[in-house]
Amino acid sequence: MARIYTDKDASLDPLRGRTIAVIGYGIQGRAQALNLRDSGLGVIIGLRRGGKSWELAEREGFKVFEVPDAVRRADVVMVLIPDMEQPKVWREQIGPNLKNGAVVDFAHGFNIHFGLIKPPSNVDVVMVAPKGPGRLVRDEFVAGRGVPALVAVHQNYSGKALQYALAIAKGIGATRAGVIETTFKEETETDLIGEQNVLVGGLMELLKKGFEVMVELGYQPEVAYFEAINEAKLIMDLIWERGIYGMLNGVSETARYGGLTVGPRIIDDEVKRKMREAAERVRSGEFAKEWVAEYERGAPNLKRMLEGVKAHPAEKVGEEVRKLMFGQWQK
Ligand code: NAD
Ligand code: MG
Repeated sequence: MARIYTDKDASLDPLRGRTIAVIGYGIQGRAQALNLRDSGLGVIIGLRRGGKSWELAEREGFKVFEVPDAVRRADVVMVLIPDMEQPKVWREQIGPNLKNGAVVDFAHGFNIHFGLIKPPSNVDVVMVAPKGPGRLVRDEFVAGRGVPALVAVHQNYSGKALQYALAIAKGIGATRAGVIETTFKEETETDLIGEQNVLVGGLMELLKKGFEVMVELGYQPEVAYFEAINEAKLIMDLIWERGIYGMLNGVSETARYGGLTVGPRIIDDEVKRKMREAAERVRSGEFAKEWVAEYERGAPNLKRMLEGVKAHPAEKVGEEVRKLMFGQWQK
């Protein structure tokens, strides 16, 4: 069983009186910086001068510095800029300015695990990866709760790296919910495998193809959108609250029987074999290599594929159908 840490297992003491530099004030950076400050800790922000976030961070009461300057002042450096930007910013602005004995924290293991960032040996390297979007990290904290997180230690220079990671997790509210100890390797690989096979890749294709089949059979796209895409939220909410078995108890007996008999014929062993293949491409580093090369070319394929989704028939009809619900809320 995984080791789970909660508030009683973590102390903010290792961070008290220290300077925490949050690099990046975007989705995670803003949420984590605000939570740490509300936990009574000393937070400064590191950014590019003149960027949009600079103004926002100042307006929200933070002292903002250019990245090298923030890093030089910091005992703890939280690297919360986009993963693909990190290696270059690390090489030029973070790495050379780290204090001896600093704690470096990541919210995702990608760059460390795949060797794209190589920290010096005289710092701690930890990860606190919230398992939820940044907005929730802030909203849950304000509501007195927290989003669960994974913590890991890559390099333990001080001998207290885990205590630092747990202190950060407590400061952002994650230990209120519970924090699971993992490794950079496990977090990175499961994150990528999960988003490709299931959460983003698998789910999106399942919904789109389910919609296409109904439309090709001549059903009205509006009706198909409800049945193949929109209602997926209701099913997911049930699974989120009660698990898969609990979800089955929450749908009709006909849905239960049809789902259990037909589901495995659609998502069959061949699909599972392809999931394994995709997982192996993640584990071998082949996917990371492909993605880094694509990003460095300016992500032309990503842009083209995004346009393709935008142009999919489900998008136009979806906009209309979603208005039926949201239109009422906005009145
Ligand atoms: P983001 O795209 O929201 O980050 C944008 C911020 O980074 C902005 O403040 C921008 O000004 C700054 N920035 C961008 N390039 C910069 C540069 N070259 N120099 C200085 N500042 C720069 O990023 P995010 O989605 O919050 O992701 C940050 C980290 O958190 C990543 O490691 C990501 O994997 C991880 N993470 C994100 C989420 C999420 O909800 N988005 C969830 C879990 C983990
Ligand atoms: Mg992910």
